[in-house]
Amino acid sequence: MRVLHAAAELYPLVKTGGLGDVLGALPPALAAEGIDARLLLPGFPAVLAGLNDLQPVTRLPAPGWAGTAVLRRGTLPQTEVEVYAIDVPALYEGRAHIYCGPDGLDWLDNHRRFALLGITAARLAAGLDGEWRPDVVHAHDWHAALAPAYLRAAGKPAASVLTIHNLAFQGLFPPQIFPELELPSNFFAIDGLEFWGRLSFLKGGLVFADAITTVSPTYAREILTPEHGMGLDGVLRERQAALTGILNGVDHAIWDPAHDPLLAAPYAATDPAPKAICKAAIQRETGLAPDADALLLGAVTRLTGQKGFDLVLDAAEALIGMGCQIVMLGSGEAALEQGFLRLATKRPDRISVRLGYDEALAHRIYGGADALLVPSRFEPCGLSQLYAMRYGTLPIVRRTGGLADTVHDPRTTGGNAGTGFVFDSVDPDALIGAVTRATLLRRDSAAWQAAMRRAMTADFGWGRAAAAYARLYRSLPPGRD
Ligand code: ADP
Repeated sequence: MRVLHAAAELYPLVKTGGLGDVLGALPPALAAEGIDARLLLPGFPAVLAGLNDLQPVTRLPAPGWAGTAVLRRGTLPQTEVEVYAIDVPALYEGRAHIYCGPDGLDWLDNHRRFALLGITAARLAAGLDGEWRPDVVHAHDWHAALAPAYLRAAGKPAASVLTIHNLAFQGLFPPQIFPELELPSNFFAIDGLEFWGRLSFLKGGLVFADAITTVSPTYAREILTPEHGMGLDGVLRERQAALTGILNGVDHAIWDPAHDPLLAAPYAATDPAPKAICKAAIQRETGLAPDADALLLGAVTRLTGQKGFDLVLDAAEALIGMGCQIVMLGSGEAALEQGFLRLATKRPDRISVRLGYDEALAHRIYGGADALLVPSRFEPCGLSQLYAMRYGTLPIVRRTGGLADTVHDPRTTGGNAGTGFVFDSVDPDALIGAVTRATLLRRDSAAWQAAMRRAMTADFGWGRAAAAYARLYRSLPPGRD
């Protein structure tokens, strides 16, 4: 069975968050399930430059606004995964960030840049590449969410799946751009793309996809409610029979403390002692006091309202007062960035803040910290807590979405099953309470080590998810021609 994944991100070529990690890991895992999976991405410069053996496939029949569009194909380095790239320099070249300009505002032509992803996916399903034609188009997030709509408009040459990695991002546009999409006019309707007078790419996908998935079972339930449905809970409830939650995994080729060249010292569940060397190294690197006893709290995150770091900012002085240190890597909202920088200037021995995006530093934080802070207001799956567990760094999380599905608190699961600390209220005191429980457990070295071992050996490999996706693909109605 052939499956085409259409998405905007692909680790290691383009990544702004978990989406890129998933697209990097899922296709090889699907190969083990007998699924021939390929990817389709916009031809961002990093994609065109990063693929091996890039060849033109064909000229792409596309709307006039795309100008000359060429479909190319190459392989993802160090894998056998074939990747198609839509080469249209006017849409993708010369933009430092893939979604927004330096002012933080979305690119004005984003509807074109990402509609073309859906258009091209549907064309591939209709046989654009004479050598390979997908049975299923698997669209990821709003960027690719029009693929099921274009497939429907083309008479459904392939089945379709839409995965929601984050319902907060919906691809909303003013209605006047609708003609540019070249979809049937009756698709601009309440049972199509129309969303409160505007156009929603994500809604188009939710309405037209044969199956909808999201990235954890708990988030799949939560998004059916007004609290977490982001205005789409009604649409999702209507499509509830087609919706499932499939938990993301960890790519062990990249995230493995026993074979991670970015760590100061390798370690494993059978011998976690060298983790102390990683802790001392990250304290040294970030200018924190060399304090082996401090509970070192790590954070690798986008600094947005979703991630709940306003709670950490409110709690930070108290946490430092409890003897904790904080090592943070992230970027996002200016108020949060400035707030953390102010604290770091005041207490450089206890809190270190690195603004920006740094894949290697992220590994060193997962390796060196004792615990990872993930106080999200909502979290579709969350990968950082999974990476932390793999590195024996116990996550301190809010009970929501994938965090609720993956982190087990000894308080609720019994002393012999804990892998982290879970709190409920969106409240700095609740966070402080969970950190307090972490400091108490850490006083019992044997209990802490046992929790570390459980976290490190918990099975979050991609095999289980790939098997679930393969079952889903095989259950879909076949394409019509
Ligand atoms: P989201 O996709 O909502 O941002 P996830 O936890 O699913 O959150 O995935 C985040 C991914 O991005 C992880 O791989 C994490 O390590 C990485 N990441 C987040 N912020 C940074 C950063 N500032 N530097 C490096 N990696 C980061």
